[in-house]
Amino acid sequence: MVFRTVKPKATADMSDYIQDFLSSVENRNSHEPEFLQAVREVVSSLAPIMERHPEYRSARMLERMVEPERVIMFRVPWMDDKAEVRVQRGYRVEFNSAIGPYKGGLRFHPSVNLSILKFLGFEQVYKNSLTTLPMGGGKGGSDFDPKGRSDNEVMRFCQSFMTELQRHIGPDTDVPAGDIGVGGREIGFLFGQYKRLRNEYAGVLTGKGLNWGGSLIRPEATGYGSVYFAVEMLEHNNKSLEGQTCLVSGSGNVAQYTVEKINQFGGKAITLSDSGGFIHDPAGIDADKLAWVMDLKNGRRGRIEEYVEEFSGATFTASDPALDHNPLWTVAADCAFPSATQNEINGQDAQALVKGGVGLVSEGANMPTTREGVEVFLAGGVLYGPGKAANAGGVAVSGLEMSQNSMRLAWTREEVDERLRGIMHSIHQSCAEAADTYGTPGNYVNGANIAGFRKIADAMIDQGLV
Ligand code: NDP
Repeated sequence: MVFRTVKPKATADMSDYIQDFLSSVENRNSHEPEFLQAVREVVSSLAPIMERHPEYRSARMLERMVEPERVIMFRVPWMDDKAEVRVQRGYRVEFNSAIGPYKGGLRFHPSVNLSILKFLGFEQVYKNSLTTLPMGGGKGGSDFDPKGRSDNEVMRFCQSFMTELQRHIGPDTDVPAGDIGVGGREIGFLFGQYKRLRNEYAGVLTGKGLNWGGSLIRPEATGYGSVYFAVEMLEHNNKSLEGQTCLVSGSGNVAQYTVEKINQFGGKAITLSDSGGFIHDPAGIDADKLAWVMDLKNGRRGRIEEYVEEFSGATFTASDPALDHNPLWTVAADCAFPSATQNEINGQDAQALVKGGVGLVSEGANMPTTREGVEVFLAGGVLYGPGKAANAGGVAVSGLEMSQNSMRLAWTREEVDERLRGIMHSIHQSCAEAADTYGTPGNYVNGANIAGFRKIADAMIDQGLV
């Protein structure tokens, strides 16, 4: 006689339903690997809540949530400094507006395509829901590469991009911000063109300059927030960041302020990277060295390898695309803050991190860890803060910038920082509580997905079949 393990009927039905659902999403979006990866990650957490709330299944919440409300794709012609005509693609994915206007960054990078923007927009919906602020989710950008371009070229590109985008956005409709390749300079050019075309001084973008509608702490917010989330996870486990060595990847906006906040909590950041490779400074990247990096990256727009010429004792390892792993993650440390880009930690990298002593990972970047990597962290007992929770500080302060614009006033640095700290505390609490309630204590992936999903699903049900 053959004995088989029989799951309780409801659970068996639910896993069949989720499997069928995922197969249908895969069939419909087969050329969008990053988007499929993000959907699988969220949906793999949702079986318990779908089972407890059959109304979500009958309202087809999953099916509705994986379809963006609107996708806009457009031509962006511009002229370079040699008077050559260039043509880029522009996009805005307006994913979900159940709890507020679409909100999410613009990415300018040659790798940008619809799959990447759909993954980012999908993640943004849940992230924004966790912030406690009324913001829907969206994402946009272009395959334009600002690296090596003059300020005039970047301005002409931004003006052309905004000439089309302006008809789709607005302070109560869709409020973009920065992301990879879009910092203060680009937001300035985009805002200027919006104002010129619409004849409106409106809070239509966040990450604006301080003297023209920006919020204090917005540039710092994602990096600071990621460290605040790490501190919440540590305190929840009676630990602290004091004296801990930390790996940081990237050297852009998020990485820079992550290092600053790690130093303020008494930790020691020892690595930074860019697409050319990574530097390792065992003595630590202190405030003076960080100021030098900020000038290198934000002013001179140089490469991180120049760090080792300036600071003795540091080493540079060049990127090697032939490798099946990223050597940055083999450096021994206590904590890791991936802050560059998606899929920068694979299963092998995650194993190297655990082997090297890392007990905490807080994701400043969006989806920097592959599914295999996440499984290694969860199995290894690592305190693992997924991007949609850990890096939500950026969009949270963007939400605070929107509030200040609406009220036509500006909060102090201390006031914004205190609100950011409070929001990161609430996000940690709601993730931890949802993970407990649905039977996986300490699993912040499940916690973030369930807590984020629930608020959106309830709002969509309240608003009818839209
Ligand atoms: P920046 O453009 O300021 O910096 C990005 C950094 O990552 C650069 O050092 C860049 O190196 C490196 N990088 C980018 N792509 C790659 C790649 N394919 N391989 C290796 N290195 C790469 O961007 P941000 O700091 O704003 O964004 C970093 C991450 O944080 C992204 O995942 C973004 O989505 C996420 N994020 C950002 C928020 C924000 O407020 N800015 C909010 C929430 C999440 P190089 O210059 O050589 O390309």
